[in-house]
Amino acid sequence: MIATISPVSVTEAHPFRQALVDAGLLFPSDVPGVYGRGAAMEAIVAGLDAAISGLGSDDGTSVIRFPPVMSRAMIERGGYLRSFPHLLGTVHCFEGDDAGQERILQQVERGEDWGGEQRLTDLVLAPAACYPIYPASAGTLPAAGRLLDVSAYCFRHEASPDPARMQAFRMREFVRLADPATVEAWRDQWQPRALQFLRDLGLDPRLAPANDPFFGRGGRLLAASQAADGLKLELLVPTSSDVKLTAVMSLNYHREHFGETFAIRTADGAIAHSACTAFGMERIALALVRAHGVEPGDWPAEVRARLRLAA
Ligand code: AMP
Ligand code: ZN
Repeated sequence: MIATISPVSVTEAHPFRQALVDAGLLFPSDVPGVYGRGAAMEAIVAGLDAAISGLGSDDGTSVIRFPPVMSRAMIERGGYLRSFPHLLGTVHCFEGDDAGQERILQQVERGEDWGGEQRLTDLVLAPAACYPIYPASAGTLPAAGRLLDVSAYCFRHEASPDPARMQAFRMREFVRLADPATVEAWRDQWQPRALQFLRDLGLDPRLAPANDPFFGRGGRLLAASQAADGLKLELLVPTSSDVKLTAVMSLNYHREHFGETFAIRTADGAIAHSACTAFGMERIALALVRAHGVEPGDWPAEVRARLRLAA
């Protein structure tokens, strides 16, 4: 039999999720954390996208939109499997013959695992929007470094009945590659900017040190040092719960990790540092729904204007 992937049941009661579904903002599927988006939800996300462009598009920003898949080799080289093997989705495909196809059909018929007939391909599902940037930046950066505006549909294997914890969601990011002082200053100026961005949307964010969900026993150490060194900050607001806040944005400083791994150098030959500012598009949209209601037509006029939502 196919192993149960998650103890979570898609029918588990979740009032906020139900409200989103009832309002036609999200369309549930038989898999937890995988939704269709209704027109109103897409209008909110489009408004956010435009507002974010206005916020971070300094002169010289390169805009790149990535597909939801990326190179497996680059994820391997980047160390993702060391830190987050439990979140990664891989793309497998069938490359067999008639007999192999027959085995698949029989296994499906019997409700058995047919993964044995599938082969790992060159692709994985993008776990974050910024990952493809680092291998593509190998070599020497321009004198001013590089600033990129990226987005991708991302996948993380974390099934949950919480509508704010999706398996497939959109992430928009600004990425800075330069010398350490420039990157740190860039990350620092994003703290008030990110807070103001969310406040202008009628939200009341907390900025707090955070850590990524590193895997295993070794992961606990990595998580503790990441938080202690202030390498990850999150902006938290109520989304699914008023009590337990959810991160809708993160500010991440990778120091020399990607520069060293992918041989990215500054104009004077030093290893480049990197940082990124990430926006969870669906999470911000859900936080807005939590704050202002399921009907965007009834939201405060200033918020509607910022998101260019039709009157
Ligand atoms: P991270 O790389 O974990 O800091 O993620 C960047 C942003 O993506 C977070 O601040 C969230 O807004 C969003 N995000 C991360 N995981 C999920 C998820 N499972 N479902 C929806 N949004 C997510
Ligand atoms: Zn990033």
